[in-house]
Amino acid sequence: MILPEVTREKKVDVLIVGAGAAGIRTAIALHHYNISCLLVSKREFGDAHTIMASGGINAALGSLDPEDNWAIHAADTLREGHFINDPKIVEHVCKYAPEAVKELDNWGCPFNKTETNSINQRFFGAQSFRRTCFVGDRTGKAILDALVDKAKSLNIPCEDGIYIFQILKEKGRVVGALGLDKKHKEFIRFKSSCVVLAAGGYASIYERSSSRPDENLGDTIHLSYQAGAKLMDMEMVQFHPTGMTAPESYIGRLVTEAVRGEGGYLFNSLGDRFMKEYSPEKMELDARDEVARAIAKEIEKGNGTAGDGVYLDITHKDAEFIKKRLPKMYNRFMELGSDIAKEAIEVAPTCHYSMGGAEVDLQSGATNVPGLFAVGEAISGMHGANRLGGNSLIETLVLGNTFGQRIAETLDFLENEGPSAGSEQNRNEYLQTLKGCEEPLALVQKTKKIMWKHAGIIRKETFLRKGLEEIQELKEEWNACSKPIEKLSFDKIWQNLDLRNVLLSAELVLKTALYRRESRGAHYREDFPKTEENWKKNILVSKGEKGQFQLETKSQGPVSPEVEKALQRNYSLSYHQLE
Ligand SMILES: Cc1cc2nc3c(=O)[nH]c(=O)nc-3n(C[C@H](O)[C@H](O)[C@H](O)COP(=O)(O)OP(=O)(O)OC[C@H]3O[C@@H](n4cnc5c(N)ncnc54)[C@H](O)[C@@H]3O)c2cc1C
Repeated sequence: MILPEVTREKKVDVLIVGAGAAGIRTAIALHHYNISCLLVSKREFGDAHTIMASGGINAALGSLDPEDNWAIHAADTLREGHFINDPKIVEHVCKYAPEAVKELDNWGCPFNKTETNSINQRFFGAQSFRRTCFVGDRTGKAILDALVDKAKSLNIPCEDGIYIFQILKEKGRVVGALGLDKKHKEFIRFKSSCVVLAAGGYASIYERSSSRPDENLGDTIHLSYQAGAKLMDMEMVQFHPTGMTAPESYIGRLVTEAVRGEGGYLFNSLGDRFMKEYSPEKMELDARDEVARAIAKEIEKGNGTAGDGVYLDITHKDAEFIKKRLPKMYNRFMELGSDIAKEAIEVAPTCHYSMGGAEVDLQSGATNVPGLFAVGEAISGMHGANRLGGNSLIETLVLGNTFGQRIAETLDFLENEGPSAGSEQNRNEYLQTLKGCEEPLALVQKTKKIMWKHAGIIRKETFLRKGLEEIQELKEEWNACSKPIEKLSFDKIWQNLDLRNVLLSAELVLKTALYRRESRGAHYREDFPKTEENWKKNILVSKGEKGQFQLETKSQGPVSPEVEKALQRNYSLSYHQLE
């Protein structure tokens, strides 16, 4: 049991919430300007969700396809985002991507190399050229290791086991945050000139998800929404076509896109390579939303496997090639008693990435709340209605660097006194209002089921409304069984905070998905199957003055002439060279 009181306080210029690739890259940029920052994370330093990334990171290096360039990368990204991405963010990330990857190479990230010692690049779905740099199929882990080593060499501090659950504001601007400290079992208050949210996304609010179950539960969403920040594209959730279907504890875990990138085929239970019906040109390497919907439809038609999936088969490739190019996949399935060089894998779609998040300004990563910044999967803008595989890791690095630099340049203006003495009591009063129940994980699980059933790959109004009703009932159930936090164990307090984040994120996804009456990218409405020109805009959601949900829309600006030219050229990969 812990008392609802702050017992430790820490002052720092910049508090970075999250130590994944985005948070650490931001910290490294701030360090360059001698700005004192502190990384805090729920999990151990070096074990952020970023390590789950496997397939690769995009940069138009042209190692194998010299024709590739940043403008074509941007054009592919915008096309895949169905033109509601922020063109300024997209162009900036694509332009600086080669530099970011080379920097990482210099910092010791062991990228696979070509015979001439260039960084090797592979195909990834819906890209015009071979652009995805990789470290076998453990790219995220290799990148995070390189960033952690770099941060350690610069003595950048990180406190892990800290759960930030409330942004502190005074006179409308951010002055710090409240956290729960796992090691010392206490509440901690951080005083800081600004807070950078690098706390990841909300893909784990779905029953089947490729994230670890206790990550990506929407922490960023709750923190920014409660602070008054605008969130954009919340309805845009990416379903990856190939998640595992067994054993139980592996359901939803990712079978990397690299298996298709390296030549894998998809078959239904009748033995048909069904993608020829849905996408005869691009086949298995069409965009994730197209392939995921095709699989969902095959399963719906009754052409699925016993485990409600389809087969992914790479057995036509040489075993040595598979071991070299897909070592993680090969080893994982071997450990489970299956040799992917000899037998097909059973796969089904899984929730993989959240394109929505805080709306930020490319100038600095600033949200509309003074002193509150965001970066990484925590933000929206780069991916629009669907994310191109390999584009998330590069976004974390490029924007982490850019935002860190810009925050450092403006920090003087952000200086503040921290929470005033008079308000300290209020903070404890706030803690005293926190409540929770004894079985929060059961309610988290119920929320995930509701989302999978009512706001999944194929959506429609009746489902979405039913989902909202069920979420409301869950909130009432939670309220009815809740008691003050001093009556709960430390772990239960932690889990109730997770539940709070999950419920809010779920509600925002359902509300925005209901509002978008068209289909675009990852958001497919069976009752509005067409993409409508008048919906080429973003939905923003924020908390109104009276605590109500506020929805508004905005349109993005034009693309640059270079990118317009690349869009006109309409480059496309010759998919058949993969066969
Ligand atoms: C299985 C899988 C494979 C992927 N493969 C690829 C790929 O090949 N290429 C690609 O580009 N992308 C890939 N992605 C996506 C990519 O890995 C992520 O989008 C990216 O790593 C996000 O990095 P991040 O730094 O924004 O957040 P994360 O790595 O999620 O880090 C978030 C950090 O915030 C901390 N945190 C969260 N909440 C709180 C809180 N309340 N208080 C304190 N700390 C908190 C966490 O502990 C963690 O340290 C993949 C994703 C998955 C799930």
